[in-house]
This record gives sequence, C-alpha cells and structure tokens, in this order.
Amino acid sequence: MKNKYYISTAIPYINGKPHIGHALEYTQTDVVARYQRLIGKDVFFLSGTDENSLKNVHAAEKAGKGVQEFVDEYYKEFYNFKDILNISFDDFIRTSEARHFVGAKKLWQNFKAEDLEKRKYKGLYCVGCEAFYKEEELEDGKCPEHKTEPEVVEEENWFFKLSNYQEKLKELLEKDIIKVVPDFRKNEWLAFIDRGLEDFSISRSAERAHNWGVPVPSDESQIMYVWVDALSNYITALNYGEENSELFQKYWNQTGQNNREVVHVIGKGIGKFHVLYWPAMLLSAGLELPTAEFIHGYLTIEGEKMSKSLGNVIDPKDVVEKYGTDAVRYYLLGAVSATKDGDFSVARFEDFYTAHLVNGIGNLTSRILTMIEKYNENKIPVVTKDIFEINKFWEHYEISFINYDFEEVVKTINSLVSKIDVTISEQKPWEKVKAGENISVLLYQLVEGLRHLALSLVPIIPETAEKILKQLNWEVSNNFEEEKKWGILSEGKEIKKTEILFARLEKQKN
Ligand SMILES: [Zn+2]
Repeated sequence: MKNKYYISTAIPYINGKPHIGHALEYTQTDVVARYQRLIGKDVFFLSGTDENSLKNVHAAEKAGKGVQEFVDEYYKEFYNFKDILNISFDDFIRTSEARHFVGAKKLWQNFKAEDLEKRKYKGLYCVGCEAFYKEEELEDGKCPEHKTEPEVVEEENWFFKLSNYQEKLKELLEKDIIKVVPDFRKNEWLAFIDRGLEDFSISRSAERAHNWGVPVPSDESQIMYVWVDALSNYITALNYGEENSELFQKYWNQTGQNNREVVHVIGKGIGKFHVLYWPAMLLSAGLELPTAEFIHGYLTIEGEKMSKSLGNVIDPKDVVEKYGTDAVRYYLLGAVSATKDGDFSVARFEDFYTAHLVNGIGNLTSRILTMIEKYNENKIPVVTKDIFEINKFWEHYEISFINYDFEEVVKTINSLVSKIDVTISEQKPWEKVKAGENISVLLYQLVEGLRHLALSLVPIIPETAEKILKQLNWEVSNNFEEEKKWGILSEGKEIKKTEILFARLEKQKN
C-alpha cells in the first residue's frame, strides 16, 4: 500500500485579486506534492480560501456587494491558479462551505473545557491582521504589517489558554516532532515561546463580526475568531465534521503508517498561528499534529515592497500570459530563495528565462533530438554506459527536495543541462560523422541523459517535462526507483521530434 502524504497551502483571505506572492506559495506547494507523487506516495494536496474574515466584509461593503456575492466572485481568482500555474490540488475548500462550518464547530466542542474561558477584554486590534497587538509589538503605534493604527476594542470574548501548552509546544519544536523549516524560523519561535505564551481571544462579538463567520457552539452572542475557524480548514476539508470520516482517517491520521507526513506551507507572516495556535488547538481537541511546517519569505518587486499604493502589485495571470506557466514556475523556484525574501524583477526574469529555458533546457532538447534524427534515423541507439554520474545527480536532487531547497533543486538540474551541453561541444559529433566515425555511443549517452533531465523536471515544470518525454516516446511508470536507473531507454525506439519548447523573447532575437 502506498504511503499517504498530506500537504496544504495557507488559505488566503480574498479581499482582492491574488498577487505574485500567492503564486510563490502555490508553486512551492505544488512542486512538493508532485515530487511526492512521483516517488510513489498517495498525496492529498489541499488549498482553499478564507471567506470568514472581517476583511472580506469590509471589502464587500466597499465594492457595494453582499459578502456572499463578493466571496463567490473572488474565490475563483485563487481557484484559477489550477490552470494559470498548473497547480495540482486535490481539493479546494472555501470556509463558507457547510462542511467547514460543521467541522469548525466540532473542533471547538472538542476543546478541553479547562482550555476555554470567557473574559472581559480590552485591546488594540488590527483589522488587517485580524489580531490583537500588544503596545510593545507596534511600531510607532502602528501595526508592523499594515502600518495602520489598531482600533481599541473592548468586549467579552472566549479565550483559549495557550499558556497551558507552553512546555508541550517547546518540546514539539525542539524535538522536531513538528519540524519547522527553515531552522532560523524554528529558533525564532522557540525564543518566542521562552518569553512566555499568552492566552488569546478565540471569539468576537457577533455584532463586530457583522454576523459573518462561524457561530460559537452554544453561545449565540459570539462568532469564532477567524483564525480559529480558518486553521481548522486543514481538517474540515477532510470531512472531520462527519462521524468517522474516511478521508480524515486516511490523510490526517494516516492510520497504520509508521511515518505520518502532514505538511503545511505558509508565509512568514502567519507563523504564530501555525506554529503555536494550531498545534495547541489540536492538542486540546486530542487530535494528531502536523509533522512539518515550511515557512517561505515574501517577494519584493524590483527591490521594493509590493503595495497597492506603490502600484507595483503583479498579477501572476499577466506574467503567465507573457512568458508561459512553466517559465513563471521555473523562476519562482529557481531564482528566488525558498525561505528568505526574494525579488521579482523583469530584467532578471528575462535573463533567467533565456539562460536556463531557451538556451538551456529548450536548446539542449532540440540539439539532441536533431542529432538522433540526422545521424540515427530517428531511432534510439544501443544502450551504453553513463558518463554523467546520474546516481549522484539523483541523490542531490532528492536531498534538496527533502530540505525544501527548491533553488538547489533547480541548480542541480541546470548543472546537468550544462554537463550534457559541454559534452556535445567537446565531442563535436558533427565533425566525427564527417570523419566517418560511428557516434552511436555518444548519441545514446545524450538521449538517455535527456530522459533523466525530463524526469527531474516532472514536478517542477510538468508541461515541459511532458513535451520532452513525448518526443522521446517515453511514458514515466509509477516505479520511480526503476525510472532513476541509467539505460532504460531501449534501442530501436523511435523518437518524434516536434516542437520548440521555449520561444526566444522578441528583443533578444537575432
Ligand atoms: Zn495589521
């Protein structure tokens, strides 16, 4: 039986269109999901939208629309990543769905009574973050994320006693029971825990929430704090709200499997909710925990922070339209740090595209297939030995994936490309043919090298990988260990050279 693997993106609130930063997270998560499928796991990849946020209410009011009408329209902008960026999620949950409400309520009801308490509370609340801030957490009296002054809010709310989980959370992080990647984030949160965890409010008055959101079970005056219901999406999508849900058993509990793998991919701004609140909530409800949390950085645009006021927000749709899905995926994975802040710059994008896709993968594919066509009647020559140290290549590729080091994965791939390229330039097969030499040994090495290259691209730029494999007349089996071996492209098989993979950019032509 295949091992199960669960992975999720965070669920963005939808008070506007997605930007290129969302595309980064979706792409990173998709690549891991596709890699895990490639190596033979039964993957469940979840994405979705946070529709209960007060921000949606405000955005709808501003647009002069009903909230439901507004979210029905805007969720599609995120759902459409499926096509725009070729994101292979298995399910997409909207937190305004009934299955989510049922599950979020069940989770609340399963919290230990001793972890809940109703308290009068007065605090500084940032609507943008949907979070209370302490005076000392503000910068010049303003929210550090939104640069706006928080409102003073006073009301009676339900509190979750996070302080009950201080020691337990520390242990989970220290022992990597929940593995926080990268290390510097793990250390940040350990230091945060050491400063002492404070209880947090998990409901707000129904009035302040404009009656939008998940009602607190058996307290009509209150709506769940949006983060409490939002976090529960990771299990409500698996029908946690149902009695003995099969999906929940299979993908969250991974019953009967030695190494559970439940991974959340999130941005650096929502670490507190995922590293502290969510595990504590699960512990309180007696549920299994995530096993890893991967935290990515933010994208700047041409070196500047992305913001509506600067007018530099990039819609992934526009970039994809211009350069293609795989070009955008390749850049986001290979030209941007996976964990630190990265930059999106048009000049860098075009350089990267030309260097690695047009002149790299695209050109190499065309060169090799043309030679097979010209010098070997379109047929794969007899099998010969590996000259590219392909085992080492795969070893490095897999380790980089385990470390979520996508930049390194792409670097590894690009070095295989240049290794094969250099072999061609040095061996000059066309001269050998002129001199009457038989070059079938070399041709096999090149074409089998190309198959390995295409295989390694399957999770990264799936469309391109598929195009290369199709031309090689090769279908990837579900046995990755076999596919990784050298010499399985067999003699006599006919190739079908068809298309150019990456078009040269206009201004760089000639
Ligand atoms: Zn804020």
